[in-house]
This record gives sequence, C-alpha cells and structure tokens, in this order.
Amino acid sequence: MNVTSRPAGIYRPKSFGLDLDFYAHAAASGVVHIQRCEACRNFQHPPRFLCFTCSSKEFQWEAIEGTGTIYSWSLSHFTIDTAWSDSLPYATVVVESLEGVRFVGTFSGPENDLMISLPVNIRAESIDENFAYIWFDPILEVVKKNG
Ligand SMILES: [Zn+2]
Repeated sequence: MNVTSRPAGIYRPKSFGLDLDFYAHAAASGVVHIQRCEACRNFQHPPRFLCFTCSSKEFQWEAIEGTGTIYSWSLSHFTIDTAWSDSLPYATVVVESLEGVRFVGTFSGPENDLMISLPVNIRAESIDENFAYIWFDPILEVVKKNG
C-alpha cells in the first residue's frame, strides 16, 4: 500500500472561513501555519476569531517548527469513497506539534510503525491554492530503535 499516491478525481474537501486560511497558508508554503495570538502569544487550533486564553481578536499565522508526536490515530480498513480503496488501510492521525497544538493529518509510514508518542515530521502537500494534505512522516531513527 502506498498512501502517498492517489487516483485522479478524488474528492477534495472545500474549506471556508478560518479553516480556509489554515489550508491556504499550508498550500502556499508547504509548511503548516498555526494561529498565534499577538497579545498573549498563545498558539491555538482549530482557528477561532477570539483567543482561547485572553479573548484578543489580533492574530498572526505563524509557521510551526515542523515536528511533533502522535497523540492518537484511527486505522481505516474501509472507505465510503471508492477512490481511496487502493490506499487501504490508511491511518488518520492526531499529532501534537512542538507548539502544543493538535491537528489531524495522514500518516505516511507503514501502519505497523504507529504508536502513541512516536515523533513525526509534519509537512503540507499543496493540492491547490486553497487546500493541502497534512502528512505526518515517522522519524525513522526512533522507529528502528524501538522496532
Ligand atoms: Zn491571547
């Protein structure tokens, strides 16, 4: 199974509002950007119009360092969208970045490497100007040491 190759014509989610900003920044740069409060410097995700911590409305989008650890995952053995059938099974993963925010993406490694706290590199693959896939690549040195 190679989850990084996809058939043509596959469904693409349509983002809007602040989610569109999240994906547009990732698509333009290949790097995940997270909303950061200009008043208290708190990172937050998913993006909101008010800071979770201080209620400020002033934000900037800041590039993350690009690493994190697996917080949780779900392994899909069945898909409603038949375009993904050849990629089964695939893992939808929640990663906590070094900045302390959690977000969802897809694990690029073999499912046998999945484990809680596994260090991963985080990257964005631009699909179009308003959408990017978020990939979590296992940091191989850690997998080999534990495997
Ligand atoms: Zn704040």
